[in-house]
Amino acid sequence: MSQTTMPQSSETHQFQAEVRELLDLMIHSLYSQREIFLRELISNSSDALDKLRVEALQKPDLIGDEELGIKLETDVAERKLIISDNGIGMSRDEVVENIGTIARSGTRRFLDSLKEKQKAEEGGETPRLIGQFGVGFYSVFMVASKVVLETRRAGEDTGTRWISTGDGNFTVEACEPATHGTTITLELKPQEVGDEEYQDFCQEYVLRSTVSKYSDFVEYPVQMDVEREEGEDDEKKTVTKTETLNSMKPIWTRQQSDISEDEYKEFYQHISHNWDEPYETIHFHAEGATNYTALLFLPTSRPFDLFDSSQAKSRMNLYVKRVHIQSECEGLAPIWLRFIPGLVDSDDLPLNVSRETLQHNNQLKAISKRVTRKVLDVLKKKLADERDSYETFWTQFGPVLKEGIYFEDAQKQELVDICLFQSTGEAEWTSLAEYVERMPVKQKEIYYLSGDDKQALESSPHLEAAKLKGYEVLFLTDRVDEFAFQKLTEYEDRAIKPLDRGDAIIEDDEEKEAREAKQEEFKPLLEAMTSELEDEVSEVRLSSRLSDSPVVLVAPENQMSPNLARILKEAKQAVPDSKRAMELNPEHPLVARMSELFAEEKDSERFADYCDLLYGQALLREGSPLPHPDHFARLVSKLMAGTN
Ligand code: ADP
Repeated sequence: MSQTTMPQSSETHQFQAEVRELLDLMIHSLYSQREIFLRELISNSSDALDKLRVEALQKPDLIGDEELGIKLETDVAERKLIISDNGIGMSRDEVVENIGTIARSGTRRFLDSLKEKQKAEEGGETPRLIGQFGVGFYSVFMVASKVVLETRRAGEDTGTRWISTGDGNFTVEACEPATHGTTITLELKPQEVGDEEYQDFCQEYVLRSTVSKYSDFVEYPVQMDVEREEGEDDEKKTVTKTETLNSMKPIWTRQQSDISEDEYKEFYQHISHNWDEPYETIHFHAEGATNYTALLFLPTSRPFDLFDSSQAKSRMNLYVKRVHIQSECEGLAPIWLRFIPGLVDSDDLPLNVSRETLQHNNQLKAISKRVTRKVLDVLKKKLADERDSYETFWTQFGPVLKEGIYFEDAQKQELVDICLFQSTGEAEWTSLAEYVERMPVKQKEIYYLSGDDKQALESSPHLEAAKLKGYEVLFLTDRVDEFAFQKLTEYEDRAIKPLDRGDAIIEDDEEKEAREAKQEEFKPLLEAMTSELEDEVSEVRLSSRLSDSPVVLVAPENQMSPNLARILKEAKQAVPDSKRAMELNPEHPLVARMSELFAEEKDSERFADYCDLLYGQALLREGSPLPHPDHFARLVSKLMAGTN
């Protein structure tokens, strides 16, 4: 251990070249997250207090009866902010060594990546980057024009004063601090004109909110003397009170069995800014290749901006050894779990991890995977044991979870298993497993229909044959379903098919044969109708899907569903105009009538009008707009007046 054997005169040192570079950046950056300097200083103090506590285990004399903690003081007139701790402090050698060089490889990496970015973007991104790295002590120069650090190592008699204005040099000299520990005095920069992001760190409320945002769960009290008015009107007097600005409750480090539901709830509301009760709390410690604690909450009701894509941000916080490192940390859980507020507190990640390095961090990937599995396990259990509440939860968050079917590969199966759908069945919701279990032996495939709402879908002509046979059909009414089901084409070896597209096989072999024979028989009629409607449909053919309705439109398998086309059109996106087939119900009297008309007067205007009427009817039936409503109305009038 180093001793202060040096002469106690004032010495001027030069910062290491890399530190000079970093300082230059700090001083000149117009940077909106300057407040993180306080997080860095409090975190250093907290570490120093930890070290003292550890050392005092061997040497109890080091700590008297004082309370270990961190103190903030301001001098508004002089624009000073003072942060002090009664931690381990530093010897003179340690000061020169620690605060003057860059010991940490993370900061080095930070500088490297900064240079790259700067090259690439002419500095545009630079300021934003700084806050995503913990740049430690040097971040004080974002807010201070001069910094004086006074420190005395616990167990030593004299102290050291370190002074710098952030230019190339710093000086060190002897001083006599009253106690062990470190006091850092910042002379705050004046507010610059046009600097809207500026926060005045002399102001109590700024300090209070910054501490609560970044350092709430630091284990030592962060205290400040505040002036308060007390008493009634004419007897008002100003008293000074010491207030603790942080709650100091790293709830997640405690044993689960010691934490009450209320405490969890309070913490949930604190980190999520939600006001509901958590539907479920997931709290676990992981040990092994990476050690961490995770605390997550499934909310009860969804935030209003859940589907606002500009708000699609993670609600996970990353802590390293109880220090808050990052909120909205994308890497901790997949985006389809973004409705889950929570945190991961890692013991292994370095304090200065950045968003950029996190993206490629394998520890984080492992954490995310584990977190996802935990959530899915909990949901699986809920589905099995608490069906009613799970259904309520599903109505709130099912649509977000289903995004995972599209994005998730690794744990897709587990995710699909906890999905619920509406259907033609009796229950309000069904899982795919339940659906499969109910499938009649003859039914080979899983069917679905997508559209705006269940009510509209229930009367769809596409359902008719399936209904008649007792085949259940899933109703997909969330927009995400269109995307999810691009990836969900099979379940337990059964194809999952849309009923309004492609070749869902509803008929058995015999029925198929009969339909094909009829198709042959009706061939001339169907061909004539096809050529009559050649601008509208790809083909007119006989249907296997209908039992009541005369006509229905069917898209080819590989084509966008009409529902998706509608969604995209609503979002003003270009949708390729592709034709669908028009299918006729061979048993319907209208088809018999067309057949007659074809035999008697196939070249008449009436035959052409009837073809148009049938097509228009098919569009109306499915809720699609008519391309030429005036024409359709004229045809109907003609028909009613008996003039055709
Ligand atoms: P980091 O804290 O990540 O190591 P910093 O630049 O913030 O990087 O600090 C450098 C070193 O200075 C610390 O590792 C610590 O040894 C020392 N130090 C900083 N602040 C304090 C403090 N309040 N008390 C004691 N030592 C400190």
